[in-house]
Amino acid sequence: LVIAIPKELAPGEQRVATVPDVVRNLKKSGCEVRVEHDAGAMAYYTDAAFTAAGATIVSDRDALLAGARIVLAVQPPTVAEAEQLPEGTIVIGFMNPAGNIEAIKKMRDRKITAFALELVPRISRAQSMDALSSQATAGGYVAVILGAEHCPKFLPMLTTAAGTIRPSTVLILGAGIAGLMAIATAKRLGALVEAYDVRRAAGEQVRSLGAKFLELEINAEGQGGYARELTAEEKIKEQEMVSAAVARADIIITTAAIPGRKAPVLVTKETVATMKPGAVIIDMAAETGGNCELTQAGRTVQAHGVTIIGPKNLPAKVPFHASQMYAKNLQSFLTLLVDKNGVLVTEYTDEILTASLLVHGGQVRHQPTKDLLE
Ligand code: NAD
Repeated sequence: LVIAIPKELAPGEQRVATVPDVVRNLKKSGCEVRVEHDAGAMAYYTDAAFTAAGATIVSDRDALLAGARIVLAVQPPTVAEAEQLPEGTIVIGFMNPAGNIEAIKKMRDRKITAFALELVPRISRAQSMDALSSQATAGGYVAVILGAEHCPKFLPMLTTAAGTIRPSTVLILGAGIAGLMAIATAKRLGALVEAYDVRRAAGEQVRSLGAKFLELEINAEGQGGYARELTAEEKIKEQEMVSAAVARADIIITTAAIPGRKAPVLVTKETVATMKPGAVIIDMAAETGGNCELTQAGRTVQAHGVTIIGPKNLPAKVPFHASQMYAKNLQSFLTLLVDKNGVLVTEYTDEILTASLLVHGGQVRHQPTKDLLE
């Protein structure tokens, strides 16, 4: 069974879908692993390290894919990449189901089997395969580092011969996976940390990290542990409370998301005008519309002395560890597809496979994506 790992071609992408340690484990389970030349270079996994782990380095994309049964990737295939995949190939990675329709159609027509890691159900058994979580962890960490870099202040309290410095206040809006990592990172840098989430269950986790949880008389826990959209009245209450916290903050990290919907606006342009000069907003929801009204995805803008950053692909900024975590997620996912003798399973009956199967046998299998095609 040949598993191929192409070099990621998307601009700014520095991650790679496997790492030498995982190659060693795949080899042990009887698989042959081919890695495209320089696939790990941007994440500091060299061709030599992959070779030492037992992979074969291949320079030509067609040669890499010829005879490969499984392709592991980070970014969703483009139309051109889908075109290049040999018919019947199984591709596993992020697929951006709602935003990559043309490539999905191409994969359908070419009878590719595509598993979308975004669709892996968030059940206990699937935790080790949860790439959304591992990459959100990486993103939450980078967001705080980026905020600290742009903040004109120290984060920790300092008592020095040149006077005492008050600690900075970091506000985290949305305390899911990325938000909790951002809280932990800001705490480690010595900041005072406040956090808010519409799910009341998040309060306990926020407090256990030593941060202050901002309470609001709303509990908007929806299906599967995710947040639901707030009512108009709840949104007004939320805006009032968030505005007061925003005005005290030196750095704000926003992560609020509702699956399948535009990100909720938590920081309006009027609220930005009340912020301290030099304050920084890192809007992790930039690519789904932004939690701040002034955010522009992929850009840094200044307004009222506030720096508003709408980063794209934060996990790619820590490519070494983000790749390591992602590769482990894929290794775990592969245990569902490949048995102990290195033989592919023929029936995708496991609920994790069924849920994440996006395209198979010339059909789009994920109903919400199928609906978008019609
Ligand atoms: P997400 O990326 O969908 O959203 C980020 C956070 O934004 C969430 O905590 C959400 O509640 C919050 N949010 C949404 N609207 C908001 C608003 N108006 N104001 C403030 N906050 C708002 O979420 P996620 O990080 O992927 O995780 C969501 C949930 O899933 C968490 O409860 C997490 O523990 C759970 N989870 C479970 C598993 C598992 O059991 N295997 C794995 C991962 C995550």
